[in-house]
Amino acid sequence: DFKSRVTVVGSGNWGSVAAKLIASNALKLPSFHDEVRMWVFEEVLPNGEKLTDVINKTNENVKYLPGIKLGRNVVADPDLENAVKEANMLVFVTPHQFMGGICKKLKGKVTGEVEAISLVKGMEVKKEGPCMISSVISKELGINSCVLMGANIANEIAVEKFSEATVGYRESREIADTWVQLFNTPYFMVTPVHDVEGVELCGTLKNVVAIAAGFVDGLDMGNNTKAAIMRIGLREMRALSKLLFPSVKDSTFFESCGVADVITTCLGGRNRRVAEAFAQSGGKRSFDELEAEMLQGQKLQGVSTAREVYEVLNHCGWLEMFPLFSTVHQICTGRLKPEAIVHYRDHKA
Ligand code: NAD
Ligand code: 13P
Repeated sequence: DFKSRVTVVGSGNWGSVAAKLIASNALKLPSFHDEVRMWVFEEVLPNGEKLTDVINKTNENVKYLPGIKLGRNVVADPDLENAVKEANMLVFVTPHQFMGGICKKLKGKVTGEVEAISLVKGMEVKKEGPCMISSVISKELGINSCVLMGANIANEIAVEKFSEATVGYRESREIADTWVQLFNTPYFMVTPVHDVEGVELCGTLKNVVAIAAGFVDGLDMGNNTKAAIMRIGLREMRALSKLLFPSVKDSTFFESCGVADVITTCLGGRNRRVAEAFAQSGGKRSFDELEAEMLQGQKLQGVSTAREVYEVLNHCGWLEMFPLFSTVHQICTGRLKPEAIVHYRDHKA
């Protein structure tokens, strides 16, 4: 009988947790090979050892997810091409800025009946306009790609605290169900939704809202202000998603990928935490510097997404319709002070 082979492309904080979830299910489900490959962007640790060797020796990603066993059936591989060679199911989960380069390297190397899913929260902006990461995967590699987004702070899922997630799919419900099967556990409840763009835009745009929430925290503006920012942010998320893709459904914003991810990221995410420090410094310290100091190699998505969203809004003449999104970018670049997060005039996205 045919068994699916899964490769996880990426091994950061969320990538490692995704590998752990998948590895536990691959062992239990007869339709999957036990072994799960995980492509690791190779690096040398301070003790001189290679990260890949340490993961394969200790079964732990000591840099990005210390203290958590990934499952003995996870095999780390530093060679991207080799890692995907035999897989018919590819799970993409890296910071979004690296996905263009990864897809270029894989172009022409992925053949046969292969399905993809993207856990990457972000977009690329090209001359033609915004391109969601699942579309970059589809276009570059010629394969279909679902997405998985949700209220999923990786460190909490790593210790098996209950959460939900949303799989967005384009056409085949059957393929979406296979992905649900691969990810779903008693502590990770996955729901399929027929709205790939809506789900992916939720995951992407909420990172901009999280930066705004961090500013509010850094300036000690209180809970009501933060709730207001989350509400306005959610409205802008919905408005922009529908302008870009009229097929996006309202109901998607009530799934885990929508309101729930806005809430958790604005309460406990990395974007929030670094934006808080930025505001506390009065905008004097740069995001790059704070990211390097506070996140030990993990990457923020919100600052670059705010820039990408700003480019799209500017290009389309929509800046005034999205005061929260545009203000976040202007604060990040130092054109406005963090206090400006509540100073724009029109909040009616
Ligand atoms: P991360 O923030 O831990 O980023 C570090 C990863 O980037 C490491 O694997 C590192 O090797 C890799 N990297 C560094 N330089 C690279 C390069 N030049 N090329 C390729 N890779 C490079 O990553 P993450 O937390 O796994 O996040 C991946 C995606 O998942 C992001 O879009 C993020 O928004 C999303 N996400 C994260 C979480 C979370 O809680 N961490 C939760 C849900 C979704
Ligand atoms: P941060 O990248 O801000 O930590 O958000 C993680 C996330 O996407 C939670 O769902």
